[in-house]
Amino acid sequence: MTSKKRIVVLGGGISGVTIALRLQELGFQAEICEAEDHIGGLAGTVRPDGGKYCLDFGPHFFITQKEEIVDRITDLVADDVVSFQRSAQLHVQGRFLDYPLSAKNVMLNFPPVDAIASVATFLWAQLMQSVQRTLGSDVPQSHFGEWAAANFGSHLAKVFFRPYTEGFWKLPCEQLSPEILPTSTRLNFMKSLRMMLLRKVSGQAQSLTERELVLPLRYPTRGYGMIAEEIAERVLNMGGVIRRNAKVSEVQARADGGYVVAANQNGQAVELETDYVVSTIPTPDLVDMMFPAAPASVRQSAKKLGYLALIVLYAVTSKRDLLDTSYVYYLGRPYHRLAEMDKFCDTLCPPGENMLAVEFSCHHGDDLWKMSGQELFELSLPHLEQDGILSRKHATKLFLLRAAHAYPIRYYGFREHLDNVLEYVQAQPNLNVLGRTGEYRYIDSDQCMERAFALAEQIADTLQT
Ligand SMILES: Cc1cc2nc3c(=O)[nH]c(=O)nc-3n(C[C@H](O)[C@H](O)[C@H](O)COP(=O)(O)OP(=O)(O)OC[C@H]3O[C@@H](n4cnc5c(N)ncnc54)[C@H](O)[C@@H]3O)c2cc1C
Repeated sequence: MTSKKRIVVLGGGISGVTIALRLQELGFQAEICEAEDHIGGLAGTVRPDGGKYCLDFGPHFFITQKEEIVDRITDLVADDVVSFQRSAQLHVQGRFLDYPLSAKNVMLNFPPVDAIASVATFLWAQLMQSVQRTLGSDVPQSHFGEWAAANFGSHLAKVFFRPYTEGFWKLPCEQLSPEILPTSTRLNFMKSLRMMLLRKVSGQAQSLTERELVLPLRYPTRGYGMIAEEIAERVLNMGGVIRRNAKVSEVQARADGGYVVAANQNGQAVELETDYVVSTIPTPDLVDMMFPAAPASVRQSAKKLGYLALIVLYAVTSKRDLLDTSYVYYLGRPYHRLAEMDKFCDTLCPPGENMLAVEFSCHHGDDLWKMSGQELFELSLPHLEQDGILSRKHATKLFLLRAAHAYPIRYYGFREHLDNVLEYVQAQPNLNVLGRTGEYRYIDSDQCMERAFALAEQIADTLQT
């Protein structure tokens, strides 16, 4: 194929670089506009102090069953990847439980009164659901709070699901859809409960979460961002263009079906003529940038979509074995997860040093978002000291990362608005959205890559006909 049609990719995260690479391979001219200095987006790595420290946007690991993706990754970073088994915990009311929460944990590790109430209300909820099904009445689609009580029982919803969910999303359960919970977590808990309580043991395939527990996880030695950086390198080697510090501000449709993409790169206005646009940037931002403007109903729907932000504080220390597992999720702390980076890979900081990654979810611009690294450390310190993890004298240095669009928020009723927006955007000729941030899907980096491969083929078909 010799076509040199041009595709501009908005955003240089893992989705953006993967599709750019595949498009180059298919004979197109790909050009990425990335607002930040670093490539990789959420799956990127920032390396301060002259590259001595490798900081991810929340610790990542690579896992996939898809052979094509495994081959690609192996080909890219084979010599620089370590493998480890996943080990994660949940810290609730002073007790360490399995992550994700299992029925066994509820029965064996919850205080007896909570365990009994959890089992009793779970069975009651199951009975109510069966009665409703027998009577043929549909179980109404409700917000997360009602859904959790109907599926897990009112007690577990009260002592675990509600506080955990509200602590993480910083929103009341009434404003959230049940779709905020990954399917694997739902299945894992429900399956284990059914097996233990209702004796419905089955030989069905393991859920994703269960597979994560047994499959080796891959982690590159200089931070997760190495994967996106290696892909970006190949894009450049194949003649693709990557513009860093290039923030896109307008996507203007041309009469011939192409587009003009306007961006600001290092303070300079640039305009890129293109045959096709792939957007991996936040969906509401894309809608705002489209010219001619999207209909008012689409713009209103776009405003109903939003993202939860993430702050990651890295505390450098000479201490080892801060945690018993790679990471621990917390309930009732200002942070929601702690990870010990040495347990991912011991080459992320200079020899003799280790890092504790402290993750805070927040909303862009709120009080937490505005805090400095030192303020976040002071907020966390009493809990870190109380739990015997880290004391002031052991923290030698702090680094801070912020990501404004870490998790698409599945508000109660979001589906209608998302469909409205995606239907409009995807009806535009020669334009499509891709990835976790662009498609507003709660997906991981391997799934972003898989979708990037598929979309590249689709674009090739479109532009060749
Ligand atoms: C805390 C956390 C932990 C995770 N752990 C894992 C894990 O262990 N394994 C895993 O596989 N996945 C994990 N994920 C998911 C993974 O990070 C994402 O699926 C993936 O990085 C999404 O990539 P993307 O390219 O679709 O989006 P993004 O990474 O969001 O990329 C979008 C890019 O667009 C850029 N951009 C935004 N606006 C503009 C603009 N106006 N102009 C130009 N550029 C713009 C952004 O800077 C960004 O680089 C995790 C995610 C989080 C938040």
